[in-house]
Amino acid sequence: MAENDFATRVLAWFDQHGRQDLPWQHNPTPYRVWVSEIMLQQTQVGTVIPYFQRFMQRFPDIQTLADAPLDDVLQHWEGLGYYSRARNLHRTAQIVCSQHAGEFPSTIDALETLPGIGRSTAGAILSLSLGQAHPILDGNVKRVLTRHHALDGWPGEPRIQKILWQYAGQHLPTQRNAAYTQAMMDMGATLCTRSKPACLLCPLQTDCAAHQQGNPQDYPGKRPKKDLPEKTAIALLLRNTCGEILLQKRPPTGIWGGLWSFPEFADEAGMAAWLQQAHGQTHIIARQLPALTHTFSHYRLHLQPLQVDFGTQPARIMEGDGWLWYKAGTKLNGGLSAAVRQYFRNTPQALKEIT
Ligand code: SF4
Repeated sequence: MAENDFATRVLAWFDQHGRQDLPWQHNPTPYRVWVSEIMLQQTQVGTVIPYFQRFMQRFPDIQTLADAPLDDVLQHWEGLGYYSRARNLHRTAQIVCSQHAGEFPSTIDALETLPGIGRSTAGAILSLSLGQAHPILDGNVKRVLTRHHALDGWPGEPRIQKILWQYAGQHLPTQRNAAYTQAMMDMGATLCTRSKPACLLCPLQTDCAAHQQGNPQDYPGKRPKKDLPEKTAIALLLRNTCGEILLQKRPPTGIWGGLWSFPEFADEAGMAAWLQQAHGQTHIIARQLPALTHTFSHYRLHLQPLQVDFGTQPARIMEGDGWLWYKAGTKLNGGLSAAVRQYFRNTPQALKEIT
């Protein structure tokens, strides 16, 4: 079967079953498509839609985004996770405004120099907003292609990536590139799903190797297992007599970069020394709260929250310079770390006591 027949079938399926009414499909400027593509990385469409709409209301164009404080951007990202995406979005907006007069570059090479934009995202932006012919290789497309070609191996491996890029390029149509790009993403998301591919409804079933073998679920190959290192830390939940808790802004890079989180210490002794030095507190009663675990790509963090209540208002009030006394439920300038959000989710009683 000719390779471009692949694209013809995909496009015919898209015309009948594809998603044609997503918010970023209306007025698909490079700016709107870029924001949607970054939000859609690691995140499902249904989750992204309300975030995208709120984001566009607050940052309708790239100049508004570039001019906004990072805290404001992080706040609009709160709950989406992978906050480096939001920081890169902000940084890229500033570069596009200062170095490209507010216009997105229109070549893959130039786009790829911008923070947070890899080859696949660059291809999607140029294809979906300008109709240029570029392959994309997001998670959905990788799933469709590894199954269609019964390609063994983990797609994160450079050798497998290279083959997948070749396949993705071979299948491109000669026209309707924007529709084709959207169609491939839609097929992966709605038909060729991870655990229950709907092969009988799929336009590729006649020559899909994995379907013919009867084992689509075996593709794509899994990442080789490696044990994640474990780290432990103390999270201090320090409450003042007004019922506010002390939050510290994390450094701009690293986990939860730029977000408000509990002060962290390697151990209890470190926490006690800090309480004495920063707040003059010597008689400390710490209450142990249920532990929190967060898994990151490179390690697993076990956080032991310890609650300390000041009996009297602290003599030295810390505020400013990355510190904040926070009243739960009030509006915050910036985003909250997953640890803080998980704490309030897991212990609504604690939230009640504080509010
Ligand atoms: S036939 Fe099945 S496994 Fe193959 S691409 Fe279609 S949905 Fe995926």
